[in-house]
Amino acid sequence: MKQIMNGDPHAIAVIGKKKIQGDATYRWSDFVLPLMHRGEPYVFHNLTKRCYQVSPSLATARETVFTSANILRDSDLTLLAEDGFLVPADKDEAAYYEGILQVLRMVREKGKKKGYRSFVLLPTTACNARCVYCFEQGMKYVTMTDEVAEQTIRFMLDHVCPGEKVTLSWFGGEPLIGEKTIDRITDAMTAAGIDFKSKIVTNGSLITEALVEKMKKRWHVYALQITLDGVEEEYNSRKNYVFPYDSAYWHVLSRIKMIVDSGLYLCIRVNIDEKNIGGVKQMIDDLRPFIKYPENTTIDLVPLFEVQGRESGIAVWKELFELMTYIDSTEFCTTPHSQLKRVKLRHCMAENLTRSIAIAPDGKLYNCENLDSFESIGTVFDGITRPDLVRAFSTVEKTAEKCRGCVSLPECTTFTKCKNPSTHCKFAKREYLAYDLHRQLDKKANAASEEMAADC
Ligand code: SF4
Ligand code: SF4
Repeated sequence: MKQIMNGDPHAIAVIGKKKIQGDATYRWSDFVLPLMHRGEPYVFHNLTKRCYQVSPSLATARETVFTSANILRDSDLTLLAEDGFLVPADKDEAAYYEGILQVLRMVREKGKKKGYRSFVLLPTTACNARCVYCFEQGMKYVTMTDEVAEQTIRFMLDHVCPGEKVTLSWFGGEPLIGEKTIDRITDAMTAAGIDFKSKIVTNGSLITEALVEKMKKRWHVYALQITLDGVEEEYNSRKNYVFPYDSAYWHVLSRIKMIVDSGLYLCIRVNIDEKNIGGVKQMIDDLRPFIKYPENTTIDLVPLFEVQGRESGIAVWKELFELMTYIDSTEFCTTPHSQLKRVKLRHCMAENLTRSIAIAPDGKLYNCENLDSFESIGTVFDGITRPDLVRAFSTVEKTAEKCRGCVSLPECTTFTKCKNPSTHCKFAKREYLAYDLHRQLDKKANAASEEMAADC
């Protein structure tokens, strides 16, 4: 048996080596994902992030219950039990995980300076597109006034984590409609000597060469996310732009070219459902001539929330994973969805209120960029006015019944407050994990063969 991935040192230190209990029977841990990769069997532990290549006989013993005597007679089984791959049959792993998560949060936070490292900023909720699926539909358009922008700057400077690099995530509406607000806030950060970088979620339509230059030099942008929802006809009807582009699709592809040519990292998000999924391959083929550096471009396929909430949505998920294999055959990258090296301590920004905060155009503070998902926790004028909500979001919850026994619990954490539906999350998360592991194992194999070639 060979160790392939060393795991998260913090998790491994906190969990330690397990003693074999003399009178217990053992089973595989809920957090172990078995995987066949290029004909070899592996087991990956999703809590410690350790991975072993195992013998074929062990790989076929998934349902086996082991006695402690069996385990002690076999050095591989002993190591697997000591490292938590095999656990006592009656172990409540959800409760165990809740305890470990609590400790790991304390360990990682220890000695860290207070203050936000990430601000999600919405200069406006107005948008020049009218996407048929937009979660902000029906929301009143609000654009940040000069007064709110000034107070936002003051709030940011008062609450930023001193001496740390800060990430500004520009979100909307269409954030580029609020270009002047972005200028104002980023200029203020520069003037105050804050070390920051920006990323932008945009529909891309308003991008120009001059704006790309400004993004890099003045806004410190390193990455953009642009949504492309299918091929020409589908995209044009879904986006339904206010401005009459001849074809919004080809217009946005030409903007994408400007971004990629400038060396910025680009994520193309494709919101998919039954209607547009058939056109995704064509869209990728259309995109290719516009992309000089495909290695700087990832394609992220995400089923629309309404699809994720439907029983029949499973068909879309299955097709999505086939498409990811197609993307691998091109030079584009796919977005990883799993943490393979370090334990994820928070589900998302909503659970990380001591480190990250969203600021709406009216100056209200939120824990999530989807503003209508949660109550506001304060304002840039009054600061945090709902410490009770901050505490509630920061506490490790009890594991939901549906998450007990799920291999992805250490990826999802115990967080249950997100309103986005997730009917097939078990299937989807497990597939993402397997997919990301295959890629990681390939990378390791490639690195090993490169090293061997260099030795020759
Ligand atoms: S939310 Fe879904 S995928 Fe995540 S742990 Fe729960 S059941 Fe598993
Ligand atoms: S609570 Fe849900 S919608 Fe909000 S940031 Fe987290 S995952 Fe996203």
